Amino acid sequence: MNSAQSRTTRCCIAGGGPAGIMLGYLLARAGVPVVVLEKHADFLRDFRGDTVHPSTLQVLDEIGLLAKFERLPQRKVDHLSAQIGGRPQEIIDFRGLEPFDHVALVPQWDFLDLIAGEGRRYPHFDLRMRHEAIGLIEEEGRVNGVRVRLPDGESQIRAELVVGCDGRHSTLREAAGLSATDYGAPMDVLWFRLARGEDDPDETFAIVGRGHMMVLLNRNDYWQAAYVVPKGSDDKLRARPIAELCDSVEKLAPFLADSTGQLTSWDKVKTLEVKVDRLERWHRPGLLLIGDAAHAMSPIGGVGINLAIQDAVAAANALAAPLRGGEPIDEALLDRVQKRRLPPTRMTQAMQLQIQKRLISRVLEESGDPPKVPAVLRWLLKFRAIRHIPARLVGYGFRPEHVRTGEQSPVA
Ligand SMILES: Cc1cc2nc3c(=O)[nH]c(=O)nc-3n(C[C@H](O)[C@H](O)[C@H](O)COP(=O)(O)OP(=O)(O)OC[C@H]3O[C@@H](n4cnc5c(N)ncnc54)[C@H](O)[C@@H]3O)c2cc1C
Repeated sequence: MNSAQSRTTRCCIAGGGPAGIMLGYLLARAGVPVVVLEKHADFLRDFRGDTVHPSTLQVLDEIGLLAKFERLPQRKVDHLSAQIGGRPQEIIDFRGLEPFDHVALVPQWDFLDLIAGEGRRYPHFDLRMRHEAIGLIEEEGRVNGVRVRLPDGESQIRAELVVGCDGRHSTLREAAGLSATDYGAPMDVLWFRLARGEDDPDETFAIVGRGHMMVLLNRNDYWQAAYVVPKGSDDKLRARPIAELCDSVEKLAPFLADSTGQLTSWDKVKTLEVKVDRLERWHRPGLLLIGDAAHAMSPIGGVGINLAIQDAVAAANALAAPLRGGEPIDEALLDRVQKRRLPPTRMTQAMQLQIQKRLISRVLEESGDPPKVPAVLRWLLKFRAIRHIPARLVGYGFRPEHVRTGEQSPVA
């Protein structure tokens, strides 16, 4: 045990992803002593999603960070199209939505660095990198802290409240014995980069063909490709030559023919496991779980980061005052956070599950008919008001949260 690094705080957050960093920031900004534990040394991991939706832009505006956020390298996406069965179709249109009319594509490490850097301006913000939560400290049926692995040993952080923001493979969820319902997903995602040519399209868009689909995120100098494959097919695919993947990418997007040569080995392709699940109960005495730790999201709509941020705002709204006031945090308060965030989470996942079932499963059945958009839907999607419906659901979500926590003076 490294006792020099043991300490007591009001709130200990495990996980420095979108949920954990935003919650830590909001609590420290409101004057609550908070320790955020992140097991990695930095935020630089390529497999993180990078969509910042209007609901998150609104939160950034409310906390006064929008101008700094807008200075980060980014692309503004104001509509999303799909090429389905060879025909382009605009599906989601953010243009004209108030107060924000676009999704910002920002590398997630830049976004997290910004919030963490701003958090450090507050005396109560204590972010510890290379600190891995490995278990809970429990006394008389209540969680009172976290056991932590450091590069040079182990330590303990004791806290009135522990919040698990440690993602879809949450250690704290497991340690607390909280059970989740697994809703299943028909797909996993192959994640790789391809160079962008001068004449390539400028958009971020999806391409759906028979048996295959792929999303191309325009990251300026390269495409970030998310190629959808049947769940569990990774080993079988990797046993085949990489050229088969290149062929299939070229069939979907012929303009990438000059770039696929860069995929010289499977080492350049990461497999991201898709999981959709949700805890029945997000809390125990002294412990709350939010973000993917409470509900792993499908990548459909790129909403996971934004839902994690919304959870963080709701949790901070409910908990900042009692935590700052030194009050005990009873379970009824934690249940209020769950009750607030469960309906939008459930509705978003229901929407994702329908798309998984009705579109993705069918596309991945290679023997099926080539996909096409029904004529009625194609006609309806000509109207911007119709395209605004998915834009609002995806961009703002079912229950947008607003920051109601105050601000304590930052360090000079
Ligand atoms: C293929 C794929 C693509 C996706 N693309 C998008 C997208 O484009 N846009 C979008 O909004 N969502 C996307 N998502 C979903 C999104 O990644 C998550 O919903 C979102 O990141 C959840 O945020 P979080 O903070 O809850 O958890 P995470 O982002 O998973 O963060 C958890 C953090 O905790 C750390 N951690 C884990 N265990 C411990 C521990 N024991 N101790 C300390 N630290 C720990 C991790 O290192 C990590 O930093 C995608 C998901 C998948 C599978």
